[in-house]
Amino acid sequence: MALTWRVHATLSRSAANGPGTRFVVWAQGCTLGCPGCFNPETHGAGGDVRTVEEVAREVLATSGIDGVTVSGGEPLEQPAALREFCALVRPSGLGIVVLTGFARREIEADPELSAAVESADTVIAGRFNARLRLGAGLRGSSNKEYWAITDGTHRPISRTSRRAR
Ligand code: SF4
Repeated sequence: MALTWRVHATLSRSAANGPGTRFVVWAQGCTLGCPGCFNPETHGAGGDVRTVEEVAREVLATSGIDGVTVSGGEPLEQPAALREFCALVRPSGLGIVVLTGFARREIEADPELSAAVESADTVIAGRFNARLRLGAGLRGSSNKEYWAITDGTHRPISRTSRRAR
């Protein structure tokens, strides 16, 4: 049976969600409850129920994009869908950025969450902290961590050098 994904919205071309022009998927649903969250309409359990394959096909049929950003909502609360989506998109060579409220240590401690981001290039990880809010950029607040899974060309960074970053 096709794996489904609850999606809040997609945008074919965005210049405001990472490097270059990017396809953006906002996953639906988040239970992390960061005070001051700027996207509360993505928290509920609704959203469009789509197959992961359908969303990936839409990405691969979009011309003129440099990469894909998956945001939310909380993409890692649907880890199987995120994992499959990244695996389907990755062979195209498009860079994949995942924004999550989970901290890197939480992801690394959970095999299902780790697997969900194994085909991403960069994860921006950590709860939004309104006191540390940033006016620009992707992080939202300065406590959130840029975590490079690959060197940006889909080559994995070795575990040793990953930890040194
Ligand atoms: S993880 Fe993201 S969507 Fe969820 S409450 Fe925090 S800022 Fe909002």
